[in-house]
Amino acid sequence: MKTLDFDPILTELVEIRHRLHRIPEIGLSEAKTSAFISDQLRSWGYKVHGGIASTGLVASLQRGNPDNAVGFRADFDALPMTEETGLPYASEHPGVMHACGHDGHTTMLLGAAWALAQDASFKGTVHFIFQPAEENLGGAKLMIEDGLFDRFPCKRVFALHNLPGLEAGIFATRAGAIAASIDVVTITVKGKGGHGALPETTIDPVVVGSSIVMALQTLVARNISPHQAAVVTVGSFHAGSAANIIPETSVLEVSMRAMDPTVRAELQKRVEEVTLLQAHSFNADVTFQWEVGYPATLNHKTEAELASQSIIKHFGEHSFVNLANPMMFSEDFAFMLEAVPGAYILLGNGDSSGLHSTTYEFNDEIIGTGVSFFYNFARDLCSAEG
Ligand SMILES: [Zn+2]
Ligand SMILES: [Zn+2]
Repeated sequence: MKTLDFDPILTELVEIRHRLHRIPEIGLSEAKTSAFISDQLRSWGYKVHGGIASTGLVASLQRGNPDNAVGFRADFDALPMTEETGLPYASEHPGVMHACGHDGHTTMLLGAAWALAQDASFKGTVHFIFQPAEENLGGAKLMIEDGLFDRFPCKRVFALHNLPGLEAGIFATRAGAIAASIDVVTITVKGKGGHGALPETTIDPVVVGSSIVMALQTLVARNISPHQAAVVTVGSFHAGSAANIIPETSVLEVSMRAMDPTVRAELQKRVEEVTLLQAHSFNADVTFQWEVGYPATLNHKTEAELASQSIIKHFGEHSFVNLANPMMFSEDFAFMLEAVPGAYILLGNGDSSGLHSTTYEFNDEIIGTGVSFFYNFARDLCSAEG
């Protein structure tokens, strides 16, 4: 069981979480959030290394063999949406909201940094990684490109994400794929506009786009093995302005998810092939604009087991779920797991609104659980390795 009493800090951590919640910021512009985290860490005696991938920062506790260093990562960006929780500490930034609980993740990691620093018996090296821009912008990748693991080498790396719908305080993970890859492409169909009464003089991008939408439905059904998980979604299709005008262009936004790198590559290839052939059959042109994709989040077997063993040891068998299937959402911690062995672990948020919902609320009751997890896990990992 935990050997440190977290109670003195829990009230302060809830306050910290609420202060972070008030100031949500979009990826790579989290100046206030980053400064707040930095000030907090400094107040507990940490030296903070900031400016990694703009707003990212790392604080380290170095009391043991650096070859066995553990990296714990929390993300701290928010989402472009308007909060509708009505909470007294709701977002003070119009149109921006902590709807994925990253304020909670950051708070739990801050609590762990406090707890491990307080514990004179702890002998180990822990790098506390506070990461910007998890949502869409690949902040994890940017931090790695900015020298994260060269400057702060980690033998293993772990991250905790809350999960609505899973009982509060229950942990879940699995070896292998735990979250899907995501790729997003914007397809612009260039046709030839004209009068709605004279379709024969035009190349109708609405019809071309519709044909593309339907053709893309065959990718998973006819190109991917039924034993593999994959999703292709056309989430947005915009064209035209009036019933009697054939527009010049239509624009489709398509997302693809997969668990396996081969499946991911096949989807990327086939989306372009199928779209091009559909467009050409109408004499239309088409262009593709790909966003930065995230690979599937693949937990390393040993590290997933180390995490589950630690959870069971400190919280009991009933507090751990070995997931049968991965989640279909995506997570840029995938990039860190490509660079360093580790695992991504889910922590039940209870019966709250879903992630990315305007009424989502991070459950403050699980802050202590998260802190306790990081604290005990760091001790387990560092003592096991001398
Ligand atoms: Zn999210
Ligand atoms: Zn998230």
